[in-house]
Amino acid sequence: MKFADFGFDDRLMEGIDAMNYDTPTLVQEQVIPLILAGRDLIVSAQTGTGKTASYLLPILHKITSAGPDDHIKALVIVPTRELAIQIAQNLEGFSYFTSVSSIAVYGGGDGASYSTERQALSVGADIVICTPGRMISHLNMGYAKIDQLQYLVLDEADRMLDMGFYGDIVKIISFLPTKRQSLLLSATMPPKIRELARKILTNPEEITL
Ligand code: AMP
Repeated sequence: MKFADFGFDDRLMEGIDAMNYDTPTLVQEQVIPLILAGRDLIVSAQTGTGKTASYLLPILHKITSAGPDDHIKALVIVPTRELAIQIAQNLEGFSYFTSVSSIAVYGGGDGASYSTERQALSVGADIVICTPGRMISHLNMGYAKIDQLQYLVLDEADRMLDMGFYGDIVKIISFLPTKRQSLLLSATMPPKIRELARKILTNPEEITL
């Protein structure tokens, strides 16, 4: 199988080619068609399996095909700023030839200032990659409107729970419309992750690799 077989938008395919991705990994082969079909998913996958592209590419395809508007359409919640930066870089590469906009909000240290992040959130970047605490601050300040959100991704969910983000995640989700597509990725599936999955996913398909 090749990436060209998924039927992705031509502009997205150009980015995939430019990034030198040719053959999908196992997780990508399984996950991409289910996301394109609109399913909620629980994916148990380790880092290094290609899990990032498995959700970024179908979400990018759907947003590219639908055409641009001013709303935040996808939110990717991750445990650390390092992961947020890495995902944002992947996303920039894949979306290079599309008109999809994105921003990573993680703040602190070498992160962007509130005002820079605020600017991007106010005009409605299509895809926002965030750490939980920073996103809560932006939501509390009122300019990050996620009430038109279509896609929610929790990546490395077990690590987020280990870091004590359960409450923050549930709070962020309280700002989201209930009609949306939600994806939860985790290396391990302890009971607390199952509980979170029951809260946020609708009739999910489960992929274990
Ligand atoms: P991930 O598991 O998402 O962290 O990806 C692990 C590494 O593999 C990253 O450097 C990706 O850029 C790379 N990668 C993921 N999928 C593919 C693919 N289908 N072809 C080539 N490289 C890939």
